[in-house]
Amino acid sequence: MYDRIVIIGAGVAGINAATKLVDNGYPGECITIIDKGNDPYNRLPEEVMTGMLGAGGWSDGKLTYHTAIGGVLSKYCGEDKAMELMDQVISNFRRFHPKPEEIFCSDPQEEPEFIKPYFGLRLFPVWHIGSNYLHEIAKAWYQYLVDKGVRFAWNEEITDIDFKEQMIVGKKALLPYEKLIFAVGKSGIDFAQQLSYDYKLPTKPKSVQIGVRFEAPQKYFQKLIDISYDFKLYQKFDNVSLRSFCTNNNAAYVAVEETYGDITYNGHAKKGEEFRNDMTNFGILMEIKGIEDPFKWSRDVVKKLQINGTGTYYSPNRTRTPALTSEGNTVSSIQVDNMDILFEALGESYAQYIEDFITNMQIVFPEIGDDWGVYMPECKYLSPEPLVNYDDLSLNDYPNIHFVGDALSARGITVSGAQGIYVAESLLS
Ligand SMILES: Cc1cc2nc3c(=O)[nH]c(=O)nc-3n(C[C@H](O)[C@H](O)[C@H](O)COP(=O)(O)OP(=O)(O)OC[C@H]3O[C@@H](n4cnc5c(N)ncnc54)[C@H](O)[C@@H]3O)c2cc1C
Repeated sequence: MYDRIVIIGAGVAGINAATKLVDNGYPGECITIIDKGNDPYNRLPEEVMTGMLGAGGWSDGKLTYHTAIGGVLSKYCGEDKAMELMDQVISNFRRFHPKPEEIFCSDPQEEPEFIKPYFGLRLFPVWHIGSNYLHEIAKAWYQYLVDKGVRFAWNEEITDIDFKEQMIVGKKALLPYEKLIFAVGKSGIDFAQQLSYDYKLPTKPKSVQIGVRFEAPQKYFQKLIDISYDFKLYQKFDNVSLRSFCTNNNAAYVAVEETYGDITYNGHAKKGEEFRNDMTNFGILMEIKGIEDPFKWSRDVVKKLQINGTGTYYSPNRTRTPALTSEGNTVSSIQVDNMDILFEALGESYAQYIEDFITNMQIVFPEIGDDWGVYMPECKYLSPEPLVNYDDLSLNDYPNIHFVGDALSARGITVSGAQGIYVAESLLS
């Protein structure tokens, strides 16, 4: 007898969970995956957050490989197990990759002297999959699960869960479950919040993660890229720390994300000479601790940085304008003449940290001068972390409901996938 397992969210966490289950003989027919987005054949490039492989399917395909990066994992399962789970995620991406030999790892070993007075450099390995292979990976992965008998329901948004009756409520249908894996990612954060309120789930508050996406010609950063391809510069103050986040090079495109109807920015790295634009982009993300309602605070800031329904762009160099996407469209944004809007949105002191970060980069990489631009805002909405049992990530009061991925405050592909596999292992045992 096998339990009926329902997975809400066909993102990185949900798909890795299902794969671990069927790889180990769990009948696919007993697993249903429901997603509000599209299957990999019908998912459009602008559907950045939803559909097969979720946000990870249209991401820049960088798989971080360290327990200090990408959210909480080793707290639940210990360091060694966390690394072993991350290995499994990376090997899944390799397994469905059309050209696995093109995956490479960047692994910086030492902080270079020239950045030291101004920045620290985070040292950890990253596996690079290549954004433009993710669609093919998603198709092959989907086909594998379908062949194993896993059932998928696409374009089905779940709006409620009756924890007591063990029933999920969709816009089109009701579905019973015996075990539920809740893997809705960032695009389901408001749904997760709603469940937290409705069921009074105990949660741990998270910090604010907000900033801008910086873009400049790659040549200015080359001496650091040679040391660390996906460099993470950081600065730490009392309740605030800043870091460069998710660096894209060579074929680097700024990506527009739409969350809750507002525009925020992120980035993609493509592979292949045909996409080369010799640009670099990365987030300058500020982590602020101690804000009372971090989710509401972040949303208010994001709203203040919108003009005419889109985000904003500033460059001190009048000839620099918003760049093109890999599809050849201009990145949606309204160009402004100065960074006043950032100061108004964030408040003087927080905005000053970002301006200072840029000034410090101009000192460390003097060739930049004013040849750069920023897209405002970049924001990582972190849902409050539900308190879960460490051995299977199930809710304290509902042991058949398991939270995984960004819904459990992960912040990346490897940790999200690893949490999915961790839960699958607990269900198998
Ligand atoms: C543009 C971009 C680039 C990124 N680049 C990287 C990167 O290079 N490296 C990295 O580590 N991380 C990256 N990330 C973050 C990473 O993609 C996420 O951390 C990861 O995908 C989270 O996995 P998940 O399974 O928890 O959620 P997701 O992958 O977001 O999947 C959640 C799924 O749930 C579905 N869903 C949501 N709500 C509902 C509902 N109510 N009913 C039904 N279905 C629902 C969504 O449609 C979605 O498919 C990037 C994110 C973005 C947006």
